[in-house]
Amino acid sequence: MTINPAWFASGGVCAAGGLFAWGALAPASQLFGRTLRRVDDASRMAITFDDGPNPTVTPRILELFDRYNAKATFFLIGRNVRAFPGLAREIAERGHTIGNHTETHPSLTFLSAARIAEELERCDDAIMAATGKQPRWMRPPFGYRSPLLEGIVRGRGGAGVAMWNVAARDWRTQSPEPVIQRLRRARGGDIVLLHDGDHRVLEGKRGHVLAALEYWLPRWRGAEIQFANLDEAQLKTQAG
Ligand SMILES: [Zn+2]
Repeated sequence: MTINPAWFASGGVCAAGGLFAWGALAPASQLFGRTLRRVDDASRMAITFDDGPNPTVTPRILELFDRYNAKATFFLIGRNVRAFPGLAREIAERGHTIGNHTETHPSLTFLSAARIAEELERCDDAIMAATGKQPRWMRPPFGYRSPLLEGIVRGRGGAGVAMWNVAARDWRTQSPEPVIQRLRRARGGDIVLLHDGDHRVLEGKRGHVLAALEYWLPRWRGAEIQFANLDEAQLKTQAG
């Protein structure tokens, strides 16, 4: 019996490809540099929203958070900020943190360094024009990273790439109940991923997200959990 060495070679390529995919896709992966995925304080939860601002639901989320004196972090898409700059300004004025979620929401994994930098810069410009503040944190669309991303974010003066450790899987329109169930495991110290927008359309349906928060905010507050935005939270980055 003879063994073709090419078989091993292709296996090695597949394994490396798998590792690359895991590094790019898994929120817990540290393969591509230090990222943020937990708060270093068990009494504080960092609730984060992606893909806004969205006039159909973001103003109601802002009202709800004001009612509980709670602060959150909003990772905004640049083109949505250009469409609704007043809403982006209102998020900042109410004390929430605004982060960069790129200009057009592409997958960054296989983009060149120049294209990634352009996506970040155009989004930063839109946020600066609307709010007068430069975002410090960045979150990659779909959570897909690139080996280049962390260096590009820090090279531009950013604090880093912010991931999450609890996802509500709320990106499809659905009833609130499954979202409420998925949030049952969220605790102090967690960074929770939610969506107030839909990257495919400017005014996505996100009533299920609002309803799930109306259910959970009073209960989390009753459990003495505080809500921190990423500028207030004690943060723990992890290296792989
Ligand atoms: Zn997104």
